[in-house]
Amino acid sequence: MPDFDESRLRAQVIHDYEALARNISDAEEMNRFIDAVMTTAAGTVRALLNAVNQQSFMGCIPLEVLASCFAYLPFRYLIDASHVCQSWRAAVLSTPALWYKIAPGSHCTPEVLQMALARTGAMPLDLQLMTRDHSPSEDLYSVLAPYSRQIRHLVWYCDRPTSPWEFPAPIMEAFCSSSTQIITAGFLGGCAGRLRYLYLQCAQFPAECPAISTVTDLNVVLTPFDEDDRPSNLGGLWDLFPGLEWLQILGVIRQTAHLLPAGTAPSSLRELSVECVSTDYDLMPHYLAWDNGNLGHVMLRQYSETRPNLERMARGTVRLAVKHASDSSKTRLMFEHPAGVTRTISISGIGIANAAALLAAVQSNLSTVRTAMVSHTALEPLAGVLAALPDLEHLFVHIVPKTADGPTYPNQDPHSFVWTPLASLAHLALARTTRITLHVWCGDCHWPCRANADDARALLAQLRALPRDLPPIEIQGFPAEELAAVDLTGLNIRFDVVAKVGALILHKGKEAYDPF
Ligand SMILES: [Zn+2]
Repeated sequence: MPDFDESRLRAQVIHDYEALARNISDAEEMNRFIDAVMTTAAGTVRALLNAVNQQSFMGCIPLEVLASCFAYLPFRYLIDASHVCQSWRAAVLSTPALWYKIAPGSHCTPEVLQMALARTGAMPLDLQLMTRDHSPSEDLYSVLAPYSRQIRHLVWYCDRPTSPWEFPAPIMEAFCSSSTQIITAGFLGGCAGRLRYLYLQCAQFPAECPAISTVTDLNVVLTPFDEDDRPSNLGGLWDLFPGLEWLQILGVIRQTAHLLPAGTAPSSLRELSVECVSTDYDLMPHYLAWDNGNLGHVMLRQYSETRPNLERMARGTVRLAVKHASDSSKTRLMFEHPAGVTRTISISGIGIANAAALLAAVQSNLSTVRTAMVSHTALEPLAGVLAALPDLEHLFVHIVPKTADGPTYPNQDPHSFVWTPLASLAHLALARTTRITLHVWCGDCHWPCRANADDARALLAQLRALPRDLPPIEIQGFPAEELAAVDLTGLNIRFDVVAKVGALILHKGKEAYDPF
């Protein structure tokens, strides 16, 4: 700080005070005078400082350049940026392109929403709004409604149900609600627009609704968490959504399953995902009834007391995958058909012996399997099924540490491979099989973690005990530097150190559209 001679300023103030306040005798008048002096003094200094700022490097950055930098800021930091200085404030407040994505990231007040909306000009709006703990959302709705024609994407994370969204929204493409929704015929103005993505919790649908007739992707929950609430009425789904391509139904239970649609799904449907939370209810009959012959991917998730007939899923399979960690967790059976078509069923707590029995029951439908991908812990229980695959060319064994699919915390030794299940490779009749891949992945070990030299030695010790007439074995997942001292003498084995390793997933389900 430069030297500052306070006495000179003091003398100047006394001089000015005597000149300006000489005739004031009334206390009220003196108060007003002092307020005026302070305001003028502070304003004058601020204006002078602003002039200095304008000369600085930061002050010379054009508003458009500032605005393009601010475009990288999350919504909540935009407001902070507007408080920094006059030029930043001008750049932030005068650029509609900074405001069209309104996602405060936490509780949104009507005032903040109003402020942001007022700055958006005519931009299409992407909004992600949430309210805290049951706070009323009607005020937010009232602020939003006048801008409805500009809304392109709306995510509404509010606990309480709101009004039925009957405002006109001709350019809305995506609507997501986290509360129970009553859809009326007048939804989004009662006419078809551009709506494609509809992600709902429980919902009541009318008999007809033009605005949802254009939807291609629908997520809906059948049964509410709260027993007092009504379950969704999905009986008219196929008529309401004639162009549906992706459908996910969650929260099916035995008591509400009669509210699911009946009959064949629209021919446009390509991907289906259904989850049942009753332990004893089988979703397979629903999928078979809905199957339109065009389904590229099907995923059913259900519980252990069901014994689904896998015949239709299995028929024509060229790649079979069985993912299993323990009998208390999920067992996932994946059937891949030609052209990448997949059928997957995930059964919680069924136990690998029961899962193997389900496969054995449809063994004749598996005669076209060329590739089998199995968790190594499932090798022995599946030995009978695998040995009876007449055209199995490639056996892919997926190996994770023993805890990788369970909770790994607290766990003293999450990185702990168990190789003994590989002993059952000796009992598989692999006459037509030309290669075996051992895919070793550290699963949920703390990143970064890879199988190491000790793991390699233990694995090879296990493999040395196998008969020598097995097909060639390729091992993936070991970094080259861990293999420098590994001895492969006499083994028909090679390490592939460049192969990518990861979870055993045949088909990754489609993710929800999200512009944020
Ligand atoms: Zn590890």
